[in-house]
Amino acid sequence: MSQEISPATCPTANGIPMLGLGTWQNTDPDECAESVRTALEMGYRHVDTAQAYENEAEVGAGLARADVDREDVFLATKIWISNLAHDDVLETARESLDRLGVDYFDLLYVHWPARTYEPEETLSAFSKLYDEGLIRNVGVSNFLPEQLEEAIDVCDAPILANQVELHPMLPQPDLREACERHDVEVVAYSPLARGAVFDRPEIQAIADKHDASEAQVSLAWLREKGVTAIPKATGEAHIRDNWESLAVELDEADIDAIDAIEETNREVDPGFAPWN
Ligand code: NAP
Repeated sequence: MSQEISPATCPTANGIPMLGLGTWQNTDPDECAESVRTALEMGYRHVDTAQAYENEAEVGAGLARADVDREDVFLATKIWISNLAHDDVLETARESLDRLGVDYFDLLYVHWPARTYEPEETLSAFSKLYDEGLIRNVGVSNFLPEQLEEAIDVCDAPILANQVELHPMLPQPDLREACERHDVEVVAYSPLARGAVFDRPEIQAIADKHDASEAQVSLAWLREKGVTAIPKATGEAHIRDNWESLAVELDEADIDAIDAIEETNREVDPGFAPWN
């Protein structure tokens, strides 16, 4: 099946390939580089990392090792909450570029609106990086609608995306609506609810019906919602399973059944999160 799925099969949202590879907790140096290489050579064109994952060098090694041109890859990283003062953004973004071995990022996110985040100070540094061509797009992550609106107001460069936790047990309708209103793309992190979707009977039933995996059903549902997903996968089997979600088409009854799931759960919930 994978032979039929090419990078061109993957839809894009405002230039963002809608299925990417997550890398949080993929820290074993060789394994991480190999995951990135495997994904890129399979057809993935979007890779997500962060300063806090302590694997930017390994992600960069995978990028270098893959038989895919840098310009064909949408590479995103995030500035950690201790580095969000103006000058620290400028300095540590350059350090991230060095670690990844690239001369620009396709997307640089504010990882969380927390600790040293100060809207004008932080985002003026992001705008400067944007003007200098070191980043092609500015993103935010874990922003509530009102924080997103404030960021749009103070940032000279456009905000391309808000990366938030989103999956069938955390569908975030209000946040999606706010992003849509402001023409900001939604990027779903933990799109498999860190494995919790595999145990949902509704998702298992739809997976059986389509001869698909629960992971594929969850990713197809996100795509149907117009949301970009960045599942983390380490070995080739999971990386391929997720890639092949691009061939899974859900019907209206499937979507309704997933939308009707009442149980909610949030997997990533640190004390400094804006909702706490
Ligand atoms: P996730 O993608 O929902 O789930 C990852 C887990 O699912 C891993 O244990 C992985 O195992 C397993 N898995 C992946 N594909 C599978 C498949 N097809 N079948 C069975 N198991 C599968 O969770 P996540 O890592 O939290 O989220 C994804 C990415 O979002 C992160 O890696 C990171 O890049 C980003 N993220 C961002 C934030 C933020 O604050 N902005 C927060 C959390 C995550 P293996 O590793 O063994 O393949």
